[in-house]
Amino acid sequence: MESPVKQIDDQLVENLLLPRFLKYVRYWTESDRHVEATPSSPGQWDLAKALRDELLGLGLKDVTLTDHCYVIARLPPGPGKESAPGVGFLAHIDTASDVSGKDVKPQLVHNYNGEKIELAGGLTLDPAQEPDLAAQKAIVHSDGTTLLGADDKAGVAEIMAAVEYLCAHPEIAHGPVEIIFSPDEETGKGLPDFPLSDIKSTACYTLDGGPMGELEAECFNAWKADVECKGKVIHVGAARGILANAVLMAASFAVMLPRSESPEATDGYYGYYCPMEIKGDLENASLEVFLRDFDTEGMRRRVAALEVFAKTVEAQFPGGRVIVNTKPQYYNMKDKIDSKPEVLDRLKQAMENMGITYHLKPIRGGTDGSRLTELGIPTPNIFTGGRNFHSRLEWVSVSEMCTACKLIIELIRLWGE
Ligand SMILES: [Zn+2]
Repeated sequence: MESPVKQIDDQLVENLLLPRFLKYVRYWTESDRHVEATPSSPGQWDLAKALRDELLGLGLKDVTLTDHCYVIARLPPGPGKESAPGVGFLAHIDTASDVSGKDVKPQLVHNYNGEKIELAGGLTLDPAQEPDLAAQKAIVHSDGTTLLGADDKAGVAEIMAAVEYLCAHPEIAHGPVEIIFSPDEETGKGLPDFPLSDIKSTACYTLDGGPMGELEAECFNAWKADVECKGKVIHVGAARGILANAVLMAASFAVMLPRSESPEATDGYYGYYCPMEIKGDLENASLEVFLRDFDTEGMRRRVAALEVFAKTVEAQFPGGRVIVNTKPQYYNMKDKIDSKPEVLDRLKQAMENMGITYHLKPIRGGTDGSRLTELGIPTPNIFTGGRNFHSRLEWVSVSEMCTACKLIIELIRLWGE
């Protein structure tokens, strides 16, 4: 039997969704990685408070805004659904600092004709470069002076529209639903303040992906290495045969990292080494290296390789020492998501019910979901309909936003079955 959610009128969903999206992107919520506090920018409070008030306005009773700007809201289960497993939906309210997110002027194009779109500063959105764009009937794009902020306000609007729909349509039976809007996802710094103990859901989904059908349930294992080079120092005028120069040791170490396994030489499932920072003097120099690999065994190989490089540098600089300190940053969520197959199965089922062709794609990075998954709540990532994130060319498909919203409603329905 066809899902009742598939029958929901797209125009109705668009009316719930689009005005919200156009409003949210106007909040200046750019996060700042140089600020230690969460949230890292005051604008995030403004949007968080607006979302809290909106959720209260929809009639939700259980709505919290935490000291660190997380919005948590709960939609109570329908009659007889109290013992159904809880499901949560997350989106982040901040935007990346790569491009300004101040004074965003979203441009709505209805009846898009597939032609080039001229933006400020000589930029163009060109369907010849982006075949995806030509197929759209309606999009929202930035005017070219800022990013758009579809990452991740498309996700926020899709969740909010789904909540409003469910509040108005009790005939769609569902179990407990949790909504979480998080600050500072782009800096990765908000996570320590994540109110994990307040989360009651069995599984969560982040709405923070790209084109329709995209489904992400695995991400990098991420480790960081701090490499300390300790030289052997003497007056440079009398250094022959004695000096071990730490500057050169650090440089030699960096050169040893295989260029064929760098971020610029890899994609898909290939991992990499990336030197992020190098500094020092004759006596002490240090190097920060990021290691990325989808595979645990592959990550072990990378960590072991760094030890070998350290020995090699020591052999080249007698008297010098190289110390490698490695530590994990986040883990691939695949194993933990695979251990609760119903989380992905229900998502795939919901996509099938909505007529969406899905494709699993590895995330070459981490999300709020990777950390949540690590802490015991499997959290795959779903598309939002956005493109060209973190750029002035960012745009979002209106119909794909509507589909994402209906997908949320369908998932909620399936978890309540
Ligand atoms: Zn995002």
